[in-house]
Amino acid sequence: MSDLRALLALQDDDLAIHVLEQRLAALEPRIRELDTRRQRIVDTMERQSTALQAEEKKQAFLRDKIAEHRELIARNQAQLDAVKTMRQATAAAAQMDQAKRIVAGEESDLHVITRRVEELRAGRAASTADLEACEAEQATARGEVATERASIDGELAVARATRDETAKAVPAGLRSRYDRIRNAKRVHVVVALNALACGACDTAIPMQRRHAMMSGTAIELCEACGVLMYHAV
Ligand SMILES: [Zn+2]
Repeated sequence: MSDLRALLALQDDDLAIHVLEQRLAALEPRIRELDTRRQRIVDTMERQSTALQAEEKKQAFLRDKIAEHRELIARNQAQLDAVKTMRQATAAAAQMDQAKRIVAGEESDLHVITRRVEELRAGRAASTADLEACEAEQATARGEVATERASIDGELAVARATRDETAKAVPAGLRSRYDRIRNAKRVHVVVALNALACGACDTAIPMQRRHAMMSGTAIELCEACGVLMYHAV
């Protein structure tokens, strides 16, 4: 009976470890939620920066074009001043009018783009403020999670050390059977009989094994579900 008692004590220790591991796993969604909220703002900022860069590029291009066309107007003005005939004067004036119209159109486009750049800069500044506020708000929550994690880690270290001690009392062969079943992700490895059936899967135990089991000393493997069964006296 002392093998069984040692094995059940080992299982108790493992169940305590399992509870701690579950508490640790339960912290993950909280961290994921914090990360998701922060990432949403970061994504918005990236989109804003990309749009801003594109608009700034257009703005720079237009500014160059306007400078180029203003130079052309100045050259046309110089030509106009130098013309000798009426026909030349008319041609130069027409050329200059056309250049002025082009520049006027470009300036109006530049005005629109400049306003858009200002809007995007304001949007990005707002997002930067959002991110700072989010991070400040989350600092408390992340601190709480970190504290909780550290405390669970501490409890786990103690629980594992206790488990190692308890395991020494279980005979090596039995312990390795138990560990094998447990590593197959089963939480309850050692299960009491329920009447004459396995307490985990309810499969009746074979006739020829009943006597040995009911005498109260045997620890038998359930061939149906793989747990270790014992008869609770
Ligand atoms: Zn079973």
